Amino acid sequence: MEIFLDVILPIPLQKAFTYHITEAEADFIKVGMRIAVPFGKNKIYTALAYQIHNNPPVAYEPKTIHQILDEKPIITESQLKHWEWIAGYYMCSLGEVMRASLPNALILESETIISRNEDITPKDAELKDDEFLIIEALQYQTSLKIQDVISILDKKRVLPVIKEMVEKGLVQLHEELYEKYQPKLVRYVKLDEVFRTEEKLQELLELLSRAPKQREVVLSLFTLQARSNKPIKLSELTKTSGASTAIVKALIDKTILKEYHIQIDRVQFEGEADGAIKELSVEQNDALNAIENHFEEKSVTLLHGVTSSGKTEIYVNLIQKQLEQGKQVLYLLPEIALTTQLVERLQYYFGEKIAVFHSRYSSNERVEVWNNLLSQKTKAQIVVGARSAVLLPFSDLGLIVVDEEHEQSYKQFDPAPRYHARDAAIVLANFHKAKVLLGSATPSLESYFNASSGKYGLVELTKRYNNVLMPEIELVDLADKHKRKRMKGHFSDRLIEEMTIALHESQQIILFQNRRGFSPIVECLTCGHSPQCPNCDVSLTFHQYRNQLRCHYCGFNTIMMTNCEACGNATIDTKGFGTEQIEEEVKVLFPEHQVARMDLDTTRGKFGFEKLITNFDQGEIDVLVGTQMLTKGLDFRNVKLVGIMNADNLLNFPDFRAHERSYQLMSQVAGRAGRTDLRGKVLIQTYNPHHKILQQVSTNAYNEMFTEQMNDRYNYHYPPIFRLIKITFKHKDYNKVNAASDWFATSLRQVFKANVLGPEFPPISRIRNLYNKNILIKIPQNQSLAKTKEAIMKIHNSFNAVKDFRPVRVVLNIDNY
Ligand code: ADP
Ligand code: ZN
Repeated sequence: MEIFLDVILPIPLQKAFTYHITEAEADFIKVGMRIAVPFGKNKIYTALAYQIHNNPPVAYEPKTIHQILDEKPIITESQLKHWEWIAGYYMCSLGEVMRASLPNALILESETIISRNEDITPKDAELKDDEFLIIEALQYQTSLKIQDVISILDKKRVLPVIKEMVEKGLVQLHEELYEKYQPKLVRYVKLDEVFRTEEKLQELLELLSRAPKQREVVLSLFTLQARSNKPIKLSELTKTSGASTAIVKALIDKTILKEYHIQIDRVQFEGEADGAIKELSVEQNDALNAIENHFEEKSVTLLHGVTSSGKTEIYVNLIQKQLEQGKQVLYLLPEIALTTQLVERLQYYFGEKIAVFHSRYSSNERVEVWNNLLSQKTKAQIVVGARSAVLLPFSDLGLIVVDEEHEQSYKQFDPAPRYHARDAAIVLANFHKAKVLLGSATPSLESYFNASSGKYGLVELTKRYNNVLMPEIELVDLADKHKRKRMKGHFSDRLIEEMTIALHESQQIILFQNRRGFSPIVECLTCGHSPQCPNCDVSLTFHQYRNQLRCHYCGFNTIMMTNCEACGNATIDTKGFGTEQIEEEVKVLFPEHQVARMDLDTTRGKFGFEKLITNFDQGEIDVLVGTQMLTKGLDFRNVKLVGIMNADNLLNFPDFRAHERSYQLMSQVAGRAGRTDLRGKVLIQTYNPHHKILQQVSTNAYNEMFTEQMNDRYNYHYPPIFRLIKITFKHKDYNKVNAASDWFATSLRQVFKANVLGPEFPPISRIRNLYNKNILIKIPQNQSLAKTKEAIMKIHNSFNAVKDFRPVRVVLNIDNY
């Protein structure tokens, strides 16, 4: 009987692809091993073995596989089940989930190899110059890569040359796989075994008396060995002996020393984990017990604890108990910026049991975490990571902590899979019969709704640790301040007063403004023209620091003009303000103090955040100006004052979650103030001091906010009462987007009636030259989600059958955030 193998390919293919395998291959292959397979025109892909069976595919003749790449699976069974859930729930392919999960270096890539056609011996005279160079190079080596050809010919466009040579039969092309993961090897040295005896050793030292430098190296080796019994690194030896590597190499060549390699992990924890776990306060202890009681019956518990109530220390206690049982723990954070502070804190307790996984790690570093986790090393018993860490190969999870569970960055926006890491974590925990602890000072309405309806356990901490008072929040009326001329730039007299006091007391200050750049609007005072991005429907933001106008959606930039590009007058004005302008103004107001800025523009690069956070932590910065980035759970000791420069543009954001978000954001920024003994102070500048959300923020009235917002969600049929699916249509042709989305909406309305909204253009209707139009489907609680998706897929399939619509990209977003 014939045997077939279905594989997952790392591309958006709806179905698994089938290959023909031999009986021997079938015996060897296990689900989850990597298999190199041919796909399309002589391309080779890394796929994952998915299913072995006897049913030939109907639509095509199956090819044979190219090569089996692993000896055992590189993913776990429960992981694969979890991937399947993600693909099903978020309506994407398993291949897309695979692509998002596997570190790049595990997906081998094929590369085109060029080699001589031995049957033909060309005459030099018949060859063009480029061809001659390539043939000549192939006399010295058997094959060349495209990259080699580029450097040999010293030009970029080499494909036409190669193509012509293939046509003339001079060379052949084929694909070869290459491994991208490079283990990191460290060089070690030891004395050759013959010198084990005292006698031989004496002989050696005598022999070396004529080479004193070499003798010195051998003696240093002894010293090092005497100090500890550990293997000795070559670098250590050269450092201790003061000898050059050439001298050591001479000893290796003489076979006196032996060189060997040990593979090490790139990221290693060097310190000692000797921190004793803090003794919990009475409130914390009660909370811990309550959480454990809920876990007896419920798999998910929400810990709602005000900022600085000591939630992290409770997590630490729970983690400790899991480690004692030999279980794995996943600790999810919304943002990589947060990992530094937290990892340090956790390492203090758990040392090298912690593995960190996030997108700023290199692909090689991520492979190491993956492998350590896969082989269940204690080195990766606790994984701290952002969103994508839920996709890792866990085998024995006991607990998942989702810190700052309300953060929207847990939802992946682009590309597929558009999953919500908190929700995916809850499903993952189910596969492992593990527990999930959601933590936040400002829970999402979703989670608080689930907790108050009894689906999740609910535990609340209403006081800060050590009875530190919640910060005092004052609303500053900007309209009034402007009227009475009490403003300097964007600073009210109250803010300046409080800043002066804080700085005078050597306390630190955080200023929050949710826009980066200098000013978001540039406008000509004569003709009203304002420069637009050529690719997107937005006006350009002025960045004074680089004297540029930049688009925050596509990165387009151009030099700031002095004259209006429309009317030519030198009457260009800037309106609105971003972090850059605030930073400038602080420098003018408080010239003797250090100010720094934390936003996307200042935190690029692997250690961008770390540097700023460390500098601020160590008191080298007095005033930190920043965007959202500042809000996320950072624990600074010395911040006395927080200023929110303008609350209104948060509140007026056109989204049904705008009020919930504003509440969360402002409470979180406010929570950075006064975390130790001194009571903190927060000033919120606004034109609407009577806005109910601002009132709720200033009185810390989460429950009131929850009840009011939930009323709106009931009345207007929004989550968590109704589910949402957003369908986005993208194309560069405006009319096509309109026609396609109209057609789709009409079909949807036949099934879902009034629960279909749109199509409608979002506030920014064109991004990177593509028009976007959205349809929103609201799904009542009693309507089957599976049936809803089925109906959408059916309509999508008929949509794809219309030739005109096919080029329009359709993006499905489940539980749109
Ligand atoms: P949260 O996570 O709720 O914002 P943290 O866990 O960061 O709060 O705690 C706030 C501060 O209080 C931290 O600096 C932490 O070290 C300290 N802290 C919390 N609990 C204890 C405890 N039981 N003993 C000593 N210090 C504590
Ligand atoms: Zn743009």
